[in-house]
Amino acid sequence: MDWDEFARWGAQAAAFGADYHKTLRDRPVRPDVRPGEAAALLEAAPPEAGEGMETIWQDFLRVVPERLTHWQHPRFFAYFPANAAPPSMLAEMLVTVMAPQCMLWQTSPVATEMEGVMVQWLRQAVGLPEGWSGVIQDSASSATLSAVLTMRERATGWSGNREGLSGKGALRIYCSGQAHSSIDRACWVAGIGQENLVKLPDAGAPAYGVDVAALRAAIAADRAVGHVPAGIIAITGGTGIGAWDDLSAVGAVAREEGLYLHLDAAWGGAAMICPEIRDAMWPGVEACDSIVFNPHKWLGAQFDCSVQFLKDPRQQIDTLKIEPEYLKTSGSEVVNYSEWTIPLGRRFRALKLWFMLRYYGLEGLRARIRNHVAWSGDVCEALRDAGFEIVTEPILSLFTFRGPGDDAAQQALVDAINADGRIYVTQGMFAGRKVVRFQVGQFDCTRDDVMMAADVIREISEAM
Ligand SMILES: *Cc1c(COP(=O)(O)O)cnc(C)c1O
Repeated sequence: MDWDEFARWGAQAAAFGADYHKTLRDRPVRPDVRPGEAAALLEAAPPEAGEGMETIWQDFLRVVPERLTHWQHPRFFAYFPANAAPPSMLAEMLVTVMAPQCMLWQTSPVATEMEGVMVQWLRQAVGLPEGWSGVIQDSASSATLSAVLTMRERATGWSGNREGLSGKGALRIYCSGQAHSSIDRACWVAGIGQENLVKLPDAGAPAYGVDVAALRAAIAADRAVGHVPAGIIAITGGTGIGAWDDLSAVGAVAREEGLYLHLDAAWGGAAMICPEIRDAMWPGVEACDSIVFNPHKWLGAQFDCSVQFLKDPRQQIDTLKIEPEYLKTSGSEVVNYSEWTIPLGRRFRALKLWFMLRYYGLEGLRARIRNHVAWSGDVCEALRDAGFEIVTEPILSLFTFRGPGDDAAQQALVDAINADGRIYVTQGMFAGRKVVRFQVGQFDCTRDDVMMAADVIREISEAM
């Protein structure tokens, strides 16, 4: 492809993007497609001869847009958002066209240095102390795995990587039962084992934070039988209902027990740019050693963009750094972020933060988060007034509810809502009961979009 042709199609792709987003409200949030339908539209074998861009483009229009779940739809209330603010998309387009690989400072000087500065901008935005640093990873799962590996190496006197884990005793990691499945998987992959991830009860409403007395008791019981406590994973904004731990209390346990403390704030971290939310949910956060927060969720940096803040990066680098001859670089004053993470190759993820944070400013982003929290409360009240049972009250912008009937009726309600297409929600489990889970967070949703959800839910429930 010559670069003039590239420029013409690039302009067409940008125009498609604008049109796609302007017409999103007219599309069902989740497409009405059967499994296998999309694959059946593709040729079974690759072409022997090249095809023209015009043909490829027409096939793209025919096959793709109507068979996507539209994550940027303003009435997406499922899971958590994966917001892509327009300036962050532009940055991703620029990264795509330059296509750097950012494993070392010398392979990407400006990307590395911008990453360092963006981590500092975000550190200030969420009110963490000076002196912390961090790294941008692809996902919270990767950041949590990095933290669990650091816990493992610390607890084995930095011998696990070298010797393996046999004879090292049962390394134990503690979290609340509200913690995300990425923590289970990190413990599998790190060789800790599911049975050594100790899931503690929560202390109930309103925060559903970990029961700190149970945490202390579990650590003491483990030490008594010769197990090796290695770390604690706390949460701010759990996926099920938004549970959040009291970080002052959990931090005190970590300090007294000498345990590494990682915080999973993958979704909730974005809200910490609002000082009033931070003051309510994050006292004691300085006790953490590692914090993961995904700007690609609520904040608006296009997927993927997961920031891991580190109080002292040395421990993670001691866990993950490996330096064969071909990766050696001269000059010790530079940072090579691939030494901080598991993958070697790295994308240039800082540019979208630079664009987005400058375009909206922290005030523009705070206004969105405050609106989402307020509107979530408004929908919750509208549903309560309509006779729905609110199972868990809003935490940030997430709550759960039930309509009439048993668990099967709740799933039927979710399925009917999603088949209707005007809004998209997902189900969850809370205290052994099926619930409908509702979160507000789409970057450019309006109050009308959000309040329409209450009408749709009521209408569909009544029709059932
Ligand atoms: C989304 C989420 C994760 C997983 O995030 P990935 O970036 O997709 O790995 C982990 N923990 C919480 C609380 C989350 O909301």
